[in-house]
Parts: sequence; structure tokens; C-alpha cells
Amino acid sequence: MRQLLFLSSLFVFITSCSISKKVPTQSTFTKEETQLILSGKAADPMRVLLITNPADSIVLRTKSQPVVFNAKDKTLKHFTDRLLATVQDSATMGVGIAAPQVGVLKDIIWVQRLDKKAEPFEVYFNPKIVKYTDLKQDVPEGCLSIPDFRAMTKDRAYAIFLTYLNQKGKDQCEMVEAFTAAIFQHEIDHLNGIMFIDHLEQEQKQPGKHKVE
Ligand SMILES: [Zn+2]
Repeated sequence: MRQLLFLSSLFVFITSCSISKKVPTQSTFTKEETQLILSGKAADPMRVLLITNPADSIVLRTKSQPVVFNAKDKTLKHFTDRLLATVQDSATMGVGIAAPQVGVLKDIIWVQRLDKKAEPFEVYFNPKIVKYTDLKQDVPEGCLSIPDFRAMTKDRAYAIFLTYLNQKGKDQCEMVEAFTAAIFQHEIDHLNGIMFIDHLEQEQKQPGKHKVE
């Protein structure tokens, strides 16, 4: 009887261990997303969706889904490479990009860390802003998905506290301030279907009324 108890408790232990160590084996992407991602090489930029195109606009206004991180997911690595190639494309040259901007509704962003030495681009999975300062900042903004339009937003928090998974899938939290904090707010907005023009005063909202920098 004692042996049986031991065996059954061992079974529970082994089972719970295997559950806690369970690693997702499938890709986080849908079949359609996988097709789109694999339609080019890792260094190939993807087509950036534009708010001026009605079909693109629907995607840009859709909330994206959290990533199920799996270090062995080759499609995830291929996608993050292509998303970086897109934001660094000489034709666009952004300081940040969010996955929905290329038609992939997953919570993934790249941000150029202007607050770090050498200003590297870094990728973030499932980023969430958990705290905002009351202090605001004025930010001159543009967007790869809104052609030929820039304007000043006045409601971005000066500093934010955020949580995310880093490139290796590890949980991180961090405080970011100044212009880099504004880039994070802009990109995380994209994951919620929000564009920077939503932050503008009514009279600022018409592209074309303002001179492009
Ligand atoms: Zn944008």
C-alpha cells in the first residue's frame, strides 16, 4: 500500500513536471500568416499596409493576438527578421514597426532604442504598458502606414513602465522615458488597432493640411 502511494505520488510529480516544462511545438502563426511570412527571404522587406487602402485599413484597425513563444519556431525567427528588414528598408526608414503593419496580427514590435548607445533595434513580444506618468510630452510623429503626413501629438506619457518577452522569450520589465517611450506607445497602439492620428486634435486630423517634414 505504501509503495502504491509512493508510486501514485511519483506519477503526480512526473505529470506536473512534464506539464510545467511543456513547450509549444506549433508555430504561433495562422496558415495564412505563415504563407505571407515565408513568401520572401529573411532579408526581404514585407509590404507595409497603408491606411489609405480600405482593405489594409481594416487590418490596421484590428486588435492583434499574443505570441505563443517557442524558441524552435523557425517561422517566428523568419518573421522577426523580415519585420526588421521592413523597418530598416531605405524606402521607409522608420524608428519602429508593429506586426499588424505588415498584415500579421500578432503582438510583436521592433523599436529603435534611441536611448541606448549605438541606438540598436530591439524586438519585443507581447509588450504591455502597465504604468504611465501623468507628465506628458509633445512628440513629432509619423507612421509608415500613413504616407506623407506628420503631426505633433501632445498626449504621450513622458515615461512608461512596460512588461514584455525579449528575443529569447524571457519575461522582462523596464522603465523607458522621453522620445523612446513615445515610440513604444506608438507601436503598442498599433497592436490595439490605434493609429497616431487618433491622438490628434480634430483640426489636425486631415492629412495634407500639414507640411511634411
Ligand atoms: Zn505607426
